[in-house]
Amino acid sequence: MKYGVYFAYWEDSWEADFEKYIEKVKALGFDVLEVAALGLVNLSDDELARLRNLAEQHNVILTAGIGLPKEYDLSSSDEKTRQNGIDFMKKVLDKLHMAGIDRIGGTIYSYWPVDYNEDIDKPQALKHSMTSLRILADYALKYDITLLIETLNRFEQFLLNDAKEAVAYVKEINKSNVKVMLDTFHMNIEEDNIADAIRYTGTYLGHLHIGEANRKVPGHGSLPWTEIGQALRDINYDQYIVMEPFVKTGGQVGKDIKVWRDLSNNATEAQLDEDLQQSLNFVKARFLSTQ
Ligand code: MN
Repeated sequence: MKYGVYFAYWEDSWEADFEKYIEKVKALGFDVLEVAALGLVNLSDDELARLRNLAEQHNVILTAGIGLPKEYDLSSSDEKTRQNGIDFMKKVLDKLHMAGIDRIGGTIYSYWPVDYNEDIDKPQALKHSMTSLRILADYALKYDITLLIETLNRFEQFLLNDAKEAVAYVKEINKSNVKVMLDTFHMNIEEDNIADAIRYTGTYLGHLHIGEANRKVPGHGSLPWTEIGQALRDINYDQYIVMEPFVKTGGQVGKDIKVWRDLSNNATEAQLDEDLQQSLNFVKARFLSTQ
């Protein structure tokens, strides 16, 4: 298992200077930095190569996350929207390859956040989503990129709300480079039992986001981290665990994540760093095998 953190903990825009976080996360004890594909997609080939080199220099693994905008909805009933989504995701995959990134997770099977003013036809959206995903899985395979299907809570998405739906989706897609991605923040809303849902997902689990019920860093809330650690050991999970805390208001990140109050106790950047480092120690103590 390797531990990482999503850059947006410190940022209020999905587009940021990712380079400065490479050294920072390494110094804080992480091996993985997750970046936003919506930021990467605007970088030039030279900038992507520089990012890749810097990460390699510091022995940091880059991963990517994305919530596809509505105009690129891969599950849309509108064929043109789906095609735009496929074209956009292919461009994203090209960019990931240039940045040396071998996995992308998030709402890569539909869009985010869902517009619930529109009627939902879940069976039809699911069918369209799978058709789009199969095309993208084949495209991603030539780069050895894995697509991570993240289950989201009902308030943000409707297609895949729990591990059971995500596993069924991935089984039906039946491509070696399509895996399930779970996130404890969403699971806390949707699953009967977070640890059991991890065990249910088993070898289909390709990526895990961790955060408390209010998206504070692990250890600052009440989620059952010891049980979660036991479940990860039970399934011999050996992929990445990425913290995805959101504690600051403002910007597009605050708006999209719906952070309407400061959950950081008005922390400075140095205090945010310290909270994160303490959280990493807290998590490692519970996730690493003691047997
Ligand atoms: Mn997540």
